[in-house]
Amino acid sequence: MYWQPVVRCKNPDCPAPSQARIRLPYPDPPASTAAQPSWPPDGWQSRIICRECDHWYIYEKSDVQWATVTVPLAEQGNLHFWCVELECGEPGCQSRTKWHVLDKTDLSETEINEFVLRADPVVVCENDHPFAVSGLKSQLAQMVPSV
Ligand SMILES: [Zn+2]
Ligand SMILES: [Zn+2]
Repeated sequence: MYWQPVVRCKNPDCPAPSQARIRLPYPDPPASTAAQPSWPPDGWQSRIICRECDHWYIYEKSDVQWATVTVPLAEQGNLHFWCVELECGEPGCQSRTKWHVLDKTDLSETEINEFVLRADPVVVCENDHPFAVSGLKSQLAQMVPSV
């Protein structure tokens, strides 16, 4: 068994809240017989979109819990943790935001990009520009080993 950081979807109407436990990538997780890791650092924040209900929230250190799993996330061939970086297209806005999704359905890069842009509520940059209105200067989707 290994330590596994998780967050629970914050949407009270999530169709499967008990199952919508979102695993976060954590490189080289220690065995669960070792001490529970001290992670993430203070001030950590992440935009995470629930694959079950499409809702996104900003998750913080206090939202992270530790579970034990038999197989580390990195070795789960059917689970992919994506990071999509969006650069706001509003003139003069410099905002770059990272959006995270744990996918179990082998979405393609194109499908992940589309999934992020239609998340609920409307996805906005750090300056509250909706990307659907302001557009994007750039969009980059990658599978990532850490968050
Ligand atoms: Zn959810
Ligand atoms: Zn913006």
